[in-house]
Amino acid sequence: MAVNNEIGIIQPLADIGAICRGKGVLLHTDAAQAAGKIDMDVNAMAIDLLSISGHKMYAPKGIGTLYVRRRPRARLLAAFSGGGQERGFRSGTLPVPLTVALGEAASIAQGELAREGQRLVSLREAMITRLRDNLGEITVNGSLNQRVPGNLNVGFAGVDAEALMAELPELAISTGSACTSASVEPSYVLKALGLDDAAAGSSVRIGFGRFTTRAEVDAAADMITEAIVNHRSGNSARAAE
Ligand SMILES: *Cc1c(COP(=O)(O)O)cnc(C)c1O
Repeated sequence: MAVNNEIGIIQPLADIGAICRGKGVLLHTDAAQAAGKIDMDVNAMAIDLLSISGHKMYAPKGIGTLYVRRRPRARLLAAFSGGGQERGFRSGTLPVPLTVALGEAASIAQGELAREGQRLVSLREAMITRLRDNLGEITVNGSLNQRVPGNLNVGFAGVDAEALMAELPELAISTGSACTSASVEPSYVLKALGLDDAAAGSSVRIGFGRFTTRAEVDAAADMITEAIVNHRSGNSARAAE
């Protein structure tokens, strides 16, 4: 992963790429969380294969793309055969509207990357400051600097994150990743950072995106605060059940 989906941490891809290239190993990176968010350079990072998910960069759902290096050549087997579309790797008629949309989304993201990144960092700072002002101690999981601007993953000591989410149905925050959200296991990513089950289970991921406003950040921080204050005083809906 170029960027981790739960904590937004940016991996040292140039270093990883250099090691892989030195050993003659192909490097594929899942850039679903990185593309359109941070600068990615397949040459500087010695990336041979790079995959992108369209809907993570404001294209519609149903389109993604795989970059395949030509020099030195990354040789792949076809996903399936037939009419030979997409250089024979993936036969089948291309969905033109989705394809055009992905290109357009990429171009918009590229144009806005620097300015939007700064805007999101300041929204994130505002969220952290407001939560700290309201609640005192909160823990940011993972480095704040080595992180994509739109991600915040925070722990609230003594709070059950699942219960917190259940109390905030109007707020789209999450525990763990969407892929594993049905499971109640603590996040393996947070556990790999050294958090114990309790700390991992009290953490939520808060995302900031192109359509997030400062007013929404303030409102969300206050909603989270209120739910946690209720939770800690034992008045939560869940505790009352
Ligand atoms: C969302 C995501 C995926 C899955 O992509 P979909 O197009 O939603 O199936 C894979 N890897 C990472 C890092 C993601 O964030």
